[in-house]
Amino acid sequence: MENDASVSKQRTMVQAKVWILRKHFDGFPKESDLELKVEQLPEPRDGEILLEAVFLSVDPYMRPFSRVRMKEGDVMIGTQVAKVVQSRNPSFPVDSHVVSRSGWRTHTVSDGTGVKLLLSDWPADVPLSLALGAIGMPGLTALYGLEEVCELKAGETVLVNAAAGAVGTVVGQIAKLKGCRVIGSAGSDAKVAYLQELGFDVAFNYKTVPSLEQALREASPEGYDCFFENVGGAFSIAALPLMKPMGRIAVCGAISTYNDSAPQSGPFPHLPMIMNQIRMEGFMVARWEHKNEESLRRLLAWKQEGKLKCPEHVTSGFENMPAAFMGMLRGENLGKAIIKA
Ligand code: NDP
Repeated sequence: MENDASVSKQRTMVQAKVWILRKHFDGFPKESDLELKVEQLPEPRDGEILLEAVFLSVDPYMRPFSRVRMKEGDVMIGTQVAKVVQSRNPSFPVDSHVVSRSGWRTHTVSDGTGVKLLLSDWPADVPLSLALGAIGMPGLTALYGLEEVCELKAGETVLVNAAAGAVGTVVGQIAKLKGCRVIGSAGSDAKVAYLQELGFDVAFNYKTVPSLEQALREASPEGYDCFFENVGGAFSIAALPLMKPMGRIAVCGAISTYNDSAPQSGPFPHLPMIMNQIRMEGFMVARWEHKNEESLRRLLAWKQEGKLKCPEHVTSGFENMPAAFMGMLRGENLGKAIIKA
């Protein structure tokens, strides 16, 4: 047992900055929905560690999940790459790096729940931030959506929207690696040019094409075998009738609907699904968590072999997290939106 004197000697009085959900988002998030607070952290006890955020992630899921998984006053949910700065848990040595579901916090005292060590042999020349992007959850989402949900085969034609984002850029590149034809859409000409650089066979700006349906038809007159759906809403309505018989739709996200206050309505999908025997399956990346280690190694190997480009949009400063979050929802990011603490 430590006596009071020795405990107080060890105390480092670490303060954490945290972003709180002050008010549930209603429509597009506002700065005033979030509040920056300072928290005094306790000294880690036996089995606990003190983490310091190095890179933090802003992701689309935070918008819908905030409504269903959070209450006002909670720290914003989220994942970060952090450094272990104090440890009383032998599984997490001091100076090791982890991916931690700590939320929007600069410092965290954790018992290890929701904390994963980075791959032990993470190469020194690969930025740690990629563990939040192409060699992290978004990369795994792309891989599992294509392999497990779409069961993609060489020679097939794949459509992906939000194609210049964290998930979309990896979807397109993996589909090319697997010998597929890839069509992608994104919201600016600069993003479209980047998709062409990545090897997409056709890329278009969904904001400026005169007709979404016509753009999709022209990009692949014979239709689509697989559709990696990130956007939902009007895009999904335009794409569904263009699926080939026995086509597969991996419903990954619906970002065009996340800020809606009232649900969108549109033509119902049943008839085109029945006529063409389409399989449409929603999925969450965590379903295949048991495969993550092997899958991350595959993504890392592609990166190391120069086959996987991992663009990032980095915002500096923990204070700028709300702006980075809103910027990502508005489409300011090319590649993974990251905050450097
Ligand atoms: P991105 O990096 O793609 O960033 C979001 C992008 O969405 C923006 O850059 C913007 O690009 C686009 N966007 C925003 N609003 C609209 C709109 N109204 N219509 C069309 N595009 C829009 O994010 P992620 O790659 O992290 O996520 C992509 C999708 O995947 C999201 O829907 C997300 O929820 C989902 N997801 C699902 C997971 C799962 O397990 N099911 C896991 C991870 C992500 P642009 O300039 O092109 O408009």
